[in-house]
Amino acid sequence: MTIMPKLPEKTIERLSQYRRALLICLGKNKQYIFSHELAGMLHLTPVQVRRDIMLIGYSGTLRQGYEIREMIALIGKIIDSEEGLKVAVIGLGNLGRAMISYFNGKRTKLSIVAAFDINQEKVNRVYAGVPCYHIDMLSKIIRSENIPIAIMTVPGDEAAKVTESLVLAGIKGILNYTPTPVNVPANTYLQEYDMITSLEKIAYFVKQGNREEHI
Ligand code: ATP
Repeated sequence: MTIMPKLPEKTIERLSQYRRALLICLGKNKQYIFSHELAGMLHLTPVQVRRDIMLIGYSGTLRQGYEIREMIALIGKIIDSEEGLKVAVIGLGNLGRAMISYFNGKRTKLSIVAAFDINQEKVNRVYAGVPCYHIDMLSKIIRSENIPIAIMTVPGDEAAKVTESLVLAGIKGILNYTPTPVNVPANTYLQEYDMITSLEKIAYFVKQGNREEHI
């Protein structure tokens, strides 16, 4: 088996998007797809799509394009772990609950298996099939359940403290949904997702657009 070099972050993001788009096509009984079609669905250029697909060592045919099933399987081999990976949600507030409801049951090799909270009223309950433990149990459950990924949905001022506990508990990847950026050691993968910044960015460009129209 050939070992593929580590792929760039942006390529991994696009591979995940390609797979979702390809699954939609498959659902419509489509068998083949051209790079320009896939690009059109995702607002990318065909060149970008072809470059990514080449990077993962796949090639379609000039006449028919890419074979959809084959490509979905290949992307799965690259992104997924064979046995699947477990995920924990830290902070079972509105956002944490939304993450669980949205995520579980989706076709993915990732499953949210535990939630943690500091509020006694939320602890020892099951939310949408996911048990909620007290945050003091973090290390114990993370290790016994072998959970490598955490989604952090606590208030921003708790983010640093919770991150520290997650790293100590052996978590290897964190999705930070709080508005506060955090630091992690080099062997922990961190993805920050700040919804407010994303929305404010849109607001800025919407405002610019409106202004141009009014000049
Ligand atoms: P709710 O009104 O249900 O508490 P919310 O979304 O308004 O929801 P937030 O204040 O944003 O709540 O907090 C999110 C969740 O994080 C809450 O359930 C809160 O109890 C929990 N939380 C706060 N601090 C910690 C912490 N240090 N460790 C774990 N969970 C925490």
